[in-house]
Amino acid sequence: MSEKQTALAVAREQLKIASEELGFDRSMHELLAHPKRSLIVSVAVKHDNGQMHVYTGCRVQHWDARGPFKGGIRYHPGVTLDEVTALAMWMTWKCAVVDIPYGGAKGGIRCNPKQMSKGELERMTRRYTSLLYDFIGPHRDVPAPDVYTDAQTMAWIMDTYSQITGYSVPECVTGKPISVGGSEGREQATSLGVDVCAREAAKHLGLKLKGATVAVQGYGNVGMNAAKIAYDMGCKIVAVSDSTGGICSANGLNPYKVHEHKVKTGSVTKFKGSENVTNEEVLQTNCDILIPAALESQITKANADKIKAKIVCEGANGPTTPEADKILYEKGILLVPDILANAGGVTTSYFEWVQNLTREHWTIEDVNRKLENKMVKAFNDVCKIAQKEKCDMRTAALRLGVGRVAEAIETLGLWP
Ligand code: NAD
Repeated sequence: MSEKQTALAVAREQLKIASEELGFDRSMHELLAHPKRSLIVSVAVKHDNGQMHVYTGCRVQHWDARGPFKGGIRYHPGVTLDEVTALAMWMTWKCAVVDIPYGGAKGGIRCNPKQMSKGELERMTRRYTSLLYDFIGPHRDVPAPDVYTDAQTMAWIMDTYSQITGYSVPECVTGKPISVGGSEGREQATSLGVDVCAREAAKHLGLKLKGATVAVQGYGNVGMNAAKIAYDMGCKIVAVSDSTGGICSANGLNPYKVHEHKVKTGSVTKFKGSENVTNEEVLQTNCDILIPAALESQITKANADKIKAKIVCEGANGPTTPEADKILYEKGILLVPDILANAGGVTTSYFEWVQNLTREHWTIEDVNRKLENKMVKAFNDVCKIAQKEKCDMRTAALRLGVGRVAEAIETLGLWP
């Protein structure tokens, strides 16, 4: 397979490996390789200068045999239907790995949110929601934030959905601000899950977490919070990067100060006491734990051999290609795959949905305790399969997730 694999090629390759491992017949493999429904919408937005522009958006609903569809919405210039399809597939497996009652979905709009005003983003989000209205909802498909969307975006989705419905429906979306029914801990949940997995992986390798060196690619919601939580756990953050470049410091970076610097300057680079490096150098940092938390296909055949971390804990979806997986496994690097490592976000989204449906509001302690229990259980489940089947953690997680989804599909049967 060529080195430049698309996210969908990677997702399909992973499914092929899992289908072979699980001994599926051709029809089950074929069913799972295709999403149930893919919608393409034209999102007309009036810009602040009075001109109208039409953006292409989509929502892909992969499989819902285990429960309603669930998945984030991404605003990015690189969004394609193929990419969103891959992300929807990963959501299906992820929800099954942590054993929450959802199927997988994903949505996106191909746009450059960095060049849009808040008003333009609001109008685009509301128009997109109105176009999806018949296909989403608390028992159909529950969106959440992803790259370049946040709690405010979710509040606009909730309000648009509620206005059309005629009453407030907070359970139609997760990742909302707390003031409108969001859950305590949702914003940091993905990162807490990543760091719990990194901690369990370190335990597994007999590596002391206190003082362990950590490099983080991507300094957004997932990467920045993962760096802060790891720092609070006693790790030393030695390198971080964002889309503008990276920084490193052998003495360790204070991720809270790096955040303040990024808010002020718009970039992590040129941080006092650090050295500017390239994104590639951040991936290749000499460290114990590497957390890729930016975009897909960052660790590939071309650079996998140069990764020096002992543990790779995937905050992002699909950051490692199957060819790179093999290289890392042969090098003895313990990779905790995305469908396990970053499942903390959807798990706390599930907690938010349950709180909304029951009109309850749990404490942060309750939320984080339940999250930690789910993550540790899923980590151990995957670890056991990896040991029993003598395979890497990704194959083990796929065996678990894909196997559970296939079992649900077989139990329900195909109708009509
Ligand atoms: P975000 O928009 O908050 O942050 C993305 C970060 O990546 C930004 O700092 C950006 O500058 C950086 N970035 C972009 N291109 C880069 C590059 N080439 N090199 C280095 N950095 C780059 O997005 P997020 O919500 O943190 O999502 C990051 C990843 O985590 C995505 O793969 C997403 O699908 C995945 N994820 C997010 C959640 C969640 O709860 N937000 C849950 C599960 C998985």
